[in-house]
Amino acid sequence: MARVERAGLTDLFAPDEQTISFAGGLPDPAVFPKAALQAAFASRAQTDSAFQYANSDGYAPLRAQLAKLMQADGVSVNASDLLITQGAQQGIDLTARLLLNPGDGVVVEGPTYLGALAAFDAYEPTYYEVPVEPDGMDLHALQKILLTHSVKVIYTVPDFQNPTGAVMSLAKRQALIRLAHQYDVVILEDAPYRLLRYEGDALPTLHSLDPDGRVVLLGSFSKILSPGLRIGWLTAAPRLLQALTALKGGADVESSALVMQSISTYLASADFPQHLAKLRNYYRTKRDAMLTALASLPPAIHYTRPTGGFFVYLTGPSWLDFSALQQTELAEAHVALVPSKNLYPSHAITNGARLTFAAPALADIAPGIARLNRALTQVLHE
Ligand code: PMP
Repeated sequence: MARVERAGLTDLFAPDEQTISFAGGLPDPAVFPKAALQAAFASRAQTDSAFQYANSDGYAPLRAQLAKLMQADGVSVNASDLLITQGAQQGIDLTARLLLNPGDGVVVEGPTYLGALAAFDAYEPTYYEVPVEPDGMDLHALQKILLTHSVKVIYTVPDFQNPTGAVMSLAKRQALIRLAHQYDVVILEDAPYRLLRYEGDALPTLHSLDPDGRVVLLGSFSKILSPGLRIGWLTAAPRLLQALTALKGGADVESSALVMQSISTYLASADFPQHLAKLRNYYRTKRDAMLTALASLPPAIHYTRPTGGFFVYLTGPSWLDFSALQQTELAEAHVALVPSKNLYPSHAITNGARLTFAAPALADIAPGIARLNRALTQVLHE
């Protein structure tokens, strides 16, 4: 039986009523385009095909629309290069299922996305952690690992990383592609936050810098439409894509026809670029409120300044243990975050914490950070 040791992802989503939670990376329902989605679902629900089986790679018109969106983002793909998945999460699982046997090496960023570890765990890999710097993975550390260990997959979130918010620089993207080529490793590029950029210009995806088809690129509607739809997608070179599509069929036959078709109608009829612009403005305001509030934290607490995505990452003195604090001072202060221990496969780093500015109400951000500030100030002065 596979190891299942991590707390469930959804455990992060249900704090008590008094608590201001910066923990679960939930999008704000205020910006779900509910009316337009309701109309799209209502119209598709008239059809037979929305209630019928179709094919594992997903609704073809939706794949064509996604290919267009990706082309506009510099990714050269066609509809036939795409597989629709049950969120980006399934893309991680299918890639791991395809490529990893027990003991195989997987490089992950430290810290990384908790759900990726939960997906990889099932295949019992050997984890190697590479520190995340403000401009992405520490490639010297990565090269050392690649020199001395056999690695099958490098998992990275190059755009607005979960949990640090870091963006991998262009130079590092190019160098990472060269390293992956040199050591013959597949890169799993997880990009669910890529379109949620609040300043600056987009950098090319790893996928579009890759000359030899070794990048599996994941996308998702979870953060830009709604996670309840459970629709994401992936693109990969034909050989990988074919195998991943077969695995998708084995896992759940196909994604929901009703949902895929409704999203397709939504994209065809609503002004999606306008919706994205609205999201960017909305979350930028929350990001700004969070950064303003964080300026009051004790100087011993460092924090990242994300240019997109959902997350800010705190780092305290090395003795600080946010997991212990979450059970004691932070619980008493009724404020929640994600302690770093869960975000490293080794569980070795305790002095970091992830905060989301996307989920809490704008009006709760300053008071929530004030609670955190009081608790941390007390702990740091004890
Ligand atoms: N990858 C990352 C980096 C994420 O942050 C998340 C969601 N929190 C996922 C994948 C899973 O997203 P989805 O809902 O698309 O499965």
